[in-house]
Amino acid sequence: MNADNSGRVAEISAALDSVRSRLTAACAAAGRPASAVTLLPVTKFFPASDARILYELGCREFGESREQEAIAKVAEFAAAAAGGAIDGADPVRWHMIGQLQRNKARSVAKWAYAIHSVDSARLADALDRAALDALSAGDRAAPLRVLIQVSLDADPTRGGIALDELPALAARIATADGLELAGLMAVPPLGSDADEQFARLHEVHRTVLESHPHAVELSAGMTGDLKAAVRHGSTCVRVGTALLGSRPVISK
Ligand SMILES: *Cc1c(COP(=O)(O)O)cnc(C)c1O
Repeated sequence: MNADNSGRVAEISAALDSVRSRLTAACAAAGRPASAVTLLPVTKFFPASDARILYELGCREFGESREQEAIAKVAEFAAAAAGGAIDGADPVRWHMIGQLQRNKARSVAKWAYAIHSVDSARLADALDRAALDALSAGDRAAPLRVLIQVSLDADPTRGGIALDELPALAARIATADGLELAGLMAVPPLGSDADEQFARLHEVHRTVLESHPHAVELSAGMTGDLKAAVRHGSTCVRVGTALLGSRPVISK
């Protein structure tokens, strides 16, 4: 690590300690073991150097939500690792957590370990084909793990599939050779009661598990609502702001 980024290292290190404590406390409050919930640091809008700092502090998985930005960051991180600039040789897993256009499926299938935001059969089919091609080209070693993004408020512009269409999409992904149905994801609508939303999501997840017992992941909870998410069965909290700071406001 360069000496000149020691300020940033100290800042991120303190933030990571604090988020880990929050997460441990949330698990304890929910009567769940701390190991039941994974922290997924979200590095979108922040440079690859911040992901490197998080890596050296023990993080091995990162979330990105904008495809273009992610490809560049993944490449930069890999180049630094290959050049010996990163201590440790553990593989890193990149997660795509944001809304995705079908025409980006090929690219995502090359860099993403998992995708948390699949919400249509058309997108699932495109990812399946892309993952199969990436597998046969040796660009990936295992099927693409897919979490279905569920719409809790039936507002299609926010992403997420309507609950009545969820069983069919789950069945389709479960039988796709390039994909592995890993679980569900949701983002509660702004201003909603997180506790209520995550309780519903937990119920939906239980139903999906009846037909798909391996779909155990529940990606739920961010900086502002991770405690409620952990109370309602989250297995993965996606945290950006509390680790890396505020992002610039964008109109998108
Ligand atoms: C940006 C983002 C996050 C991180 O949110 P914070 O509030 O900064 O922790 C989590 N999930 C998704 C889908 C995101 O796009």
